Amino acid sequence: MKPPIEPPVTRDKVRELTKRWAYEPSTVGEYLHEGFNSDPVSGGFAFSCDRGLVIASTGGSCIWSGITGDVAAQHDAIDEFWRKQRHKDRPLAIDQVSVWHRAAIGALVQGLPSVADLPEHEREALPDLPRAEGLLIVLRGTLRRVESAPTEAAALRILAADDWLLNTPSEALAAHPCPLCQRLALGSSVGRVEVCDRCARHARCCDNRLVAGSNTSLFGGFIAVHVDDKTPCDQVTRNGIVYIDNKVCCMGEERIGGVYVAYET
Ligand SMILES: [Zn+2]
Ligand SMILES: [Zn+2]
Repeated sequence: MKPPIEPPVTRDKVRELTKRWAYEPSTVGEYLHEGFNSDPVSGGFAFSCDRGLVIASTGGSCIWSGITGDVAAQHDAIDEFWRKQRHKDRPLAIDQVSVWHRAAIGALVQGLPSVADLPEHEREALPDLPRAEGLLIVLRGTLRRVESAPTEAAALRILAADDWLLNTPSEALAAHPCPLCQRLALGSSVGRVEVCDRCARHARCCDNRLVAGSNTSLFGGFIAVHVDDKTPCDQVTRNGIVYIDNKVCCMGEERIGGVYVAYET
Protein backbone atom coordinates (compact mmCIF):
# COMPACT_ATOMS: atom_id res chain seq x y z
CA MET A 1 0.00 0.00 0.00
CA LYS A 2 1.21 3.49 -0.78
CA PRO A 3 0.69 6.51 1.45
CA PRO A 4 -2.09 9.01 0.70
CA ILE A 5 -1.25 12.16 -1.24
CA GLU A 6 -0.51 15.31 0.65
CA PRO A 7 -3.45 17.73 0.15
CA PRO A 8 -4.18 19.95 -1.69
CA VAL A 9 -4.50 17.31 -4.37
CA THR A 10 -4.40 18.82 -7.85
CA ARG A 11 -4.72 17.36 -11.33
CA ASP A 12 -1.00 18.00 -11.93
CA LYS A 13 -0.01 16.27 -8.71
CA VAL A 14 -1.91 13.12 -9.62
CA ARG A 15 -0.47 13.19 -13.15
CA GLU A 16 3.08 13.45 -11.75
CA LEU A 17 2.40 10.65 -9.28
CA THR A 18 1.16 8.39 -12.06
CA LYS A 19 4.21 9.21 -14.21
CA ARG A 20 6.52 8.19 -11.40
CA TRP A 21 4.61 4.92 -10.95
CA ALA A 22 4.29 4.02 -14.66
CA TYR A 23 6.78 1.72 -16.37
CA GLU A 24 6.76 4.14 -19.29
CA PRO A 25 5.78 7.75 -18.34
CA SER A 26 4.64 8.55 -21.90
CA THR A 27 1.69 6.13 -21.46
CA VAL A 28 0.10 8.34 -18.78
CA GLY A 29 -3.23 9.92 -19.70
CA GLU A 30 -6.11 11.35 -17.71
CA TYR A 31 -9.30 9.30 -17.39
CA LEU A 32 -12.04 11.90 -17.49
CA HIS A 33 -15.08 11.14 -15.33
CA GLU A 34 -17.43 14.09 -15.33
CA GLY A 35 -19.19 13.47 -12.00
CA PHE A 36 -16.05 12.53 -10.08
CA ASN A 37 -14.00 15.38 -11.55
CA SER A 38 -16.60 18.04 -10.72
CA ASP A 39 -17.50 16.95 -7.17
CA PRO A 40 -15.77 19.55 -4.95
CA VAL A 41 -16.07 17.49 -1.74
CA SER A 42 -15.57 13.81 -2.54
CA GLY A 43 -14.35 13.97 -6.12
CA GLY A 44 -10.87 14.00 -7.58
CA PHE A 45 -8.79 12.86 -10.54
CA ALA A 46 -7.87 9.61 -12.24
CA PHE A 47 -4.96 8.82 -14.52
CA SER A 48 -4.22 5.60 -16.36
CA CYS A 49 -0.89 4.24 -17.53
CA ASP A 50 0.73 0.97 -18.65
CA ARG A 51 0.76 -0.21 -15.05
CA GLY A 52 -2.85 0.52 -14.10
CA LEU A 53 -5.05 3.31 -12.85
CA VAL A 54 -4.37 5.89 -10.11
CA ILE A 55 -7.50 7.39 -8.52
CA ALA A 56 -7.12 10.21 -5.99
CA SER A 57 -9.64 12.27 -4.08
CA THR A 58 -9.10 15.96 -3.41
CA GLY A 59 -9.03 15.04 0.30
CA GLY A 60 -5.88 12.95 -0.18
CA SER A 61 -7.10 9.34 -0.34
CA CYS A 62 -5.70 7.42 -3.22
CA ILE A 63 -5.80 3.96 -4.76
CA TRP A 64 -3.51 2.27 -7.23
CA SER A 65 -5.41 -0.28 -9.26
CA GLY A 66 -3.86 -2.80 -11.60
CA ILE A 67 -6.56 -2.35 -14.27
CA THR A 68 -5.04 -1.53 -17.66
CA GLY A 69 -6.76 -1.06 -20.99
CA ASP A 70 -10.29 -2.12 -20.00
CA VAL A 71 -12.17 1.20 -20.09
CA ALA A 72 -15.41 -0.14 -18.59
CA ALA A 73 -13.54 -1.69 -15.66
CA GLN A 74 -11.67 1.56 -15.11
CA HIS A 75 -14.93 3.49 -15.10
CA ASP A 76 -16.41 1.06 -12.55
CA ALA A 77 -13.32 1.40 -10.35
CA ILE A 78 -13.68 5.19 -10.31
CA ASP A 79 -17.43 4.93 -9.58
CA GLU A 80 -16.74 2.59 -6.68
CA PHE A 81 -13.97 4.79 -5.26
CA TRP A 82 -16.20 7.88 -5.55
CA ARG A 83 -19.11 6.09 -3.85
CA LYS A 84 -16.92 5.10 -0.86
CA GLN A 85 -15.52 8.61 -0.69
CA ARG A 86 -19.03 10.13 -0.55
CA HIS A 87 -19.91 7.69 2.23
CA LYS A 88 -16.84 8.75 4.25
CA ASP A 89 -17.53 12.44 3.67
CA ARG A 90 -21.22 12.31 4.65
CA PRO A 91 -22.22 14.62 7.50
CA LEU A 92 -22.61 12.82 10.80
CA ALA A 93 -24.38 14.44 13.77
CA ILE A 94 -23.61 13.87 17.43
CA ASP A 95 -27.06 12.32 18.02
CA GLN A 96 -26.30 9.68 15.35
CA VAL A 97 -23.50 8.11 17.38
CA SER A 98 -23.74 5.76 20.37
CA VAL A 99 -23.56 6.73 24.04
CA TRP A 100 -19.97 5.41 24.15
CA HIS A 101 -19.01 7.68 21.27
CA ARG A 102 -20.78 10.69 22.80
CA ALA A 103 -19.00 10.20 26.11
CA ALA A 104 -15.59 9.76 24.42
CA ILE A 105 -16.14 12.91 22.34
CA GLY A 106 -17.26 14.80 25.47
CA ALA A 107 -14.01 13.94 27.29
CA LEU A 108 -11.96 14.71 24.18
CA VAL A 109 -13.48 18.14 23.61
CA GLN A 110 -13.19 19.09 27.30
CA GLY A 111 -9.54 18.00 27.34
CA LEU A 112 -10.10 15.45 30.12
CA PRO A 113 -7.61 12.60 30.63
CA SER A 114 -10.37 10.00 30.68
CA VAL A 115 -14.10 9.47 30.26
CA ALA A 116 -14.26 8.75 33.99
CA ASP A 117 -13.42 12.42 34.58
CA LEU A 118 -16.64 13.59 32.91
CA PRO A 119 -19.32 14.99 35.21
CA GLU A 120 -21.61 12.23 36.46
CA HIS A 121 -24.63 13.27 34.34
CA GLU A 122 -22.59 13.02 31.11
CA ARG A 123 -21.62 9.40 31.67
CA GLU A 124 -24.50 7.90 33.64
CA ALA A 125 -26.09 6.41 30.48
CA LEU A 126 -22.93 4.41 29.73
CA PRO A 127 -23.32 0.62 30.02
CA ASP A 128 -19.57 0.41 30.72
CA LEU A 129 -16.59 2.77 30.88
CA PRO A 130 -13.72 0.73 29.36
CA ARG A 131 -15.05 0.78 25.81
CA ALA A 132 -15.67 4.54 25.94
CA GLU A 133 -12.12 4.99 27.27
CA GLY A 134 -10.78 2.87 24.38
CA LEU A 135 -12.63 5.05 21.88
CA LEU A 136 -11.21 8.16 23.51
CA ILE A 137 -7.63 6.83 23.10
CA VAL A 138 -8.22 5.97 19.43
CA LEU A 139 -9.87 9.33 18.63
CA ARG A 140 -7.20 11.33 20.44
CA GLY A 141 -4.41 9.39 18.67
CA THR A 142 -6.01 9.82 15.25
CA LEU A 143 -6.51 13.57 15.72
CA ARG A 144 -2.92 13.95 16.83
CA ARG A 145 -1.71 12.08 13.74
CA VAL A 146 -3.68 14.29 11.36
CA GLU A 147 -2.72 17.37 13.42
CA SER A 148 -6.33 18.38 13.95
CA ALA A 149 -7.70 20.17 17.02
CA PRO A 150 -9.86 18.00 19.34
CA THR A 151 -13.26 19.37 18.33
CA GLU A 152 -16.59 17.59 18.10
CA ALA A 153 -16.71 18.21 14.34
CA ALA A 154 -13.25 16.71 13.80
CA ALA A 155 -14.12 13.63 15.88
CA LEU A 156 -17.36 13.11 13.94
CA ARG A 157 -15.47 13.34 10.63
CA ILE A 158 -13.13 10.56 11.80
CA LEU A 159 -16.08 8.38 12.82
CA ALA A 160 -17.95 9.00 9.54
CA ALA A 161 -14.89 7.84 7.61
CA ASP A 162 -14.45 4.61 9.55
CA ASP A 163 -17.39 2.22 9.79
CA TRP A 164 -15.55 -0.06 12.20
CA LEU A 165 -14.94 2.80 14.63
CA LEU A 166 -18.51 4.02 14.30
CA ASN A 167 -20.07 0.65 15.17
CA THR A 168 -20.98 -0.20 18.74
CA PRO A 169 -17.49 -0.61 20.19
CA SER A 170 -16.43 -4.23 20.62
CA GLU A 171 -14.74 -5.71 23.69
CA ALA A 172 -11.46 -5.51 21.75
CA LEU A 173 -11.63 -1.73 22.16
CA ALA A 174 -12.00 -1.82 25.96
CA ALA A 175 -9.22 0.09 27.73
CA HIS A 176 -7.45 -1.13 30.87
CA PRO A 177 -5.09 0.55 33.35
CA CYS A 178 -1.47 0.55 32.17
CA PRO A 179 0.40 -1.97 34.37
CA LEU A 180 3.26 0.52 34.83
CA CYS A 181 1.64 3.93 35.35
CA GLN A 182 -2.15 3.28 35.62
CA ARG A 183 -3.02 5.59 32.71
CA LEU A 184 -5.44 4.03 30.22
CA ALA A 185 -4.09 1.60 27.66
CA LEU A 186 -5.44 -0.39 24.71
CA GLY A 187 -4.83 -4.01 23.80
CA SER A 188 -4.46 -7.21 25.80
CA SER A 189 -5.19 -6.92 29.52
CA VAL A 190 -4.62 -10.49 30.67
CA GLY A 191 -1.29 -12.31 30.93
CA ARG A 192 0.76 -10.09 28.69
CA VAL A 193 -0.71 -6.71 29.67
CA GLU A 194 -0.09 -3.93 27.17
CA VAL A 195 1.29 -0.65 28.47
CA CYS A 196 -0.03 2.82 27.53
CA ASP A 197 1.30 4.82 24.57
CA ARG A 198 3.29 7.03 26.84
CA CYS A 199 5.13 4.17 28.57
CA ALA A 200 5.65 2.47 25.19
CA ARG A 201 7.53 5.57 24.01
CA HIS A 202 9.99 5.10 26.90
CA ALA A 203 11.03 1.56 25.92
CA ARG A 204 14.81 1.05 25.82
CA CYS A 205 17.02 -1.77 24.57
CA CYS A 206 19.84 -3.40 26.60
CA ASP A 207 22.19 -0.61 25.40
CA ASN A 208 19.87 1.92 27.12
CA ARG A 209 18.74 3.43 23.81
CA LEU A 210 15.10 4.30 23.06
CA VAL A 211 13.57 1.83 20.65
CA ALA A 212 10.38 1.72 18.59
CA GLY A 213 8.90 -1.31 16.90
CA SER A 214 7.24 -1.50 13.51
CA ASN A 215 6.01 -4.02 10.99
CA THR A 216 8.37 -4.78 8.13
CA SER A 217 5.50 -4.95 5.66
CA LEU A 218 1.74 -4.51 5.42
CA PHE A 219 1.40 -8.20 6.10
CA GLY A 220 3.40 -8.20 9.32
CA GLY A 221 6.96 -9.00 10.30
CA PHE A 222 8.64 -7.15 13.16
CA ILE A 223 11.67 -4.91 13.44
CA ALA A 224 12.83 -2.65 16.29
CA VAL A 225 14.83 0.48 15.50
CA HIS A 226 16.73 2.94 17.68
CA VAL A 227 14.71 6.15 17.87
CA ASP A 228 17.74 8.49 17.68
CA ASP A 229 19.40 7.35 14.44
CA LYS A 230 16.83 4.90 13.02
CA THR A 231 19.37 2.05 12.96
CA PRO A 232 17.93 -1.43 13.54
CA CYS A 233 18.23 -2.76 17.09
CA ASP A 234 19.25 -6.40 16.63
CA GLN A 235 18.73 -7.26 20.28
CA VAL A 236 15.06 -6.18 20.50
CA THR A 237 14.27 -7.41 16.99
CA ARG A 238 15.66 -10.82 18.04
CA ASN A 239 14.28 -11.34 21.56
CA GLY A 240 11.76 -8.51 22.11
CA ILE A 241 13.10 -7.62 25.56
CA VAL A 242 12.81 -3.92 26.42
CA TYR A 243 13.15 -1.92 29.63
CA ILE A 244 10.69 0.75 30.74
CA ASP A 245 11.59 2.54 33.97
CA ASN A 246 13.93 -0.38 34.72
CA LYS A 247 11.11 -2.92 34.46
CA VAL A 248 11.55 -5.79 32.05
CA CYS A 249 8.89 -5.61 29.33
CA CYS A 250 8.45 -7.12 25.91
CA MET A 251 7.84 -5.77 22.42
CA GLY A 252 6.66 -7.73 19.42
CA GLU A 253 4.22 -8.20 16.61
CA GLU A 254 0.48 -8.30 17.28
CA ARG A 255 -1.37 -11.26 15.83
CA ILE A 256 -3.36 -8.98 13.52
CA GLY A 257 -0.49 -6.66 12.56
CA GLY A 258 0.79 -3.73 14.54
CA VAL A 259 3.17 -3.81 17.47
CA TYR A 260 2.58 -4.39 21.17
CA VAL A 261 4.60 -3.30 24.19
CA ALA A 262 3.62 -5.24 27.27
CA TYR A 263 4.47 -6.12 30.82
CA GLU A 264 4.24 -9.79 31.80
CA THR A 265 2.32 -10.05 35.02
ZN1 LIG B 1 1.84 3.68 31.21
ZN1 LIG C 1 19.63 -1.53 20.76
